[in-house]
Amino acid sequence: MSRVFSGIQPSGELHIGNYVGAVSEWARLMDEGHECYYCIVDYHAMTQPYDPEIMEKRVLEMAAGLMAAGIDPERAVLFVQSQVPEHTELAWMLMTVTPMGELSRQTQYKDKARRQEGNVNVGLFAYPVLQAADILLYKGELVPVGEDQRQHLELAREIVRKFRSRFGYEFPEPQPRFGRIKRLKGLDGRDKMSKSLGNTITLTETEDQRWEKLRTAFTDPARVRKSDPGHPEICNIYTMHTFFTPEEEREEIAGACRKGEIGCFECKKRLNARMTEHLAPIQDRYADLLKNISDIRDILRQGGKRARAVAQETVKEVRSAAGLIDLEGR
Ligand code: SF4
Repeated sequence: MSRVFSGIQPSGELHIGNYVGAVSEWARLMDEGHECYYCIVDYHAMTQPYDPEIMEKRVLEMAAGLMAAGIDPERAVLFVQSQVPEHTELAWMLMTVTPMGELSRQTQYKDKARRQEGNVNVGLFAYPVLQAADILLYKGELVPVGEDQRQHLELAREIVRKFRSRFGYEFPEPQPRFGRIKRLKGLDGRDKMSKSLGNTITLTETEDQRWEKLRTAFTDPARVRKSDPGHPEICNIYTMHTFFTPEEEREEIAGACRKGEIGCFECKKRLNARMTEHLAPIQDRYADLLKNISDIRDILRQGGKRARAVAQETVKEVRSAAGLIDLEGR
């Protein structure tokens, strides 16, 4: 069994992309018996514009969403990044071995810098170093990631090697674990599904609300009429079917699409019905959890304590390897 780390920004409610691409995999790893650390990364969220008035609410809603979607805080350590100050302490130490050139080549940095032109802050630039610190603080061996995180994880591995060569300290090199669906695009069929891009379906939307979005969602552009042969393998709606629809029905849909025997409208209706079946129990659990905010706070507090005990040990070792003075006998 491995030690697993993953984080998610407190964007409020989970959306289908988070669930399909990451959180369902988190739950699976937990069920497999790995030692899992799952973190709501509010320090990361600070690199983008946000309203401080609603940050706390978003953290609590995200925690409720994660638990509703299958993360059991008894079997995984669920906590908030800013409750463990060692994250930023280790990030600083890792920064001293991270080349600027590597950071400036990160695709996500370039994309975000383009999108938030007036706010290209140092935190945004150093984001992958904080991400490396998140993982290494817990000596994470396995990191469930989507395709878009592959480059950051490769950089984390590079940082491990550089730190070893500079200070002789041995972090494990974290390995990626890809879920069943590496990348779910948004409803526009172009970009990754993301709240900031407004192309999401949230986990709590009703069947009617979802239908309003699915109805106009991008499919295979080759299909103008129902009789046009389609290509499910390039269609984002079909990617969603691969998660929500049983294999036999899915294959029937793919075959009918290729022969031009099913319209996109019907295909989306069937997806929506499958989503309703799958998401209804999650929605019920989410609503129940939000009735008791103080319980959510307690769970996060306990998770923070468990995480911090591990984080403090790691930082103690790293400080010693880096030759930093210890005046407190830490
Ligand atoms: Fe996509 Fe379904 Fe339309 Fe085929 S029938 S192009 S899989 S939405």
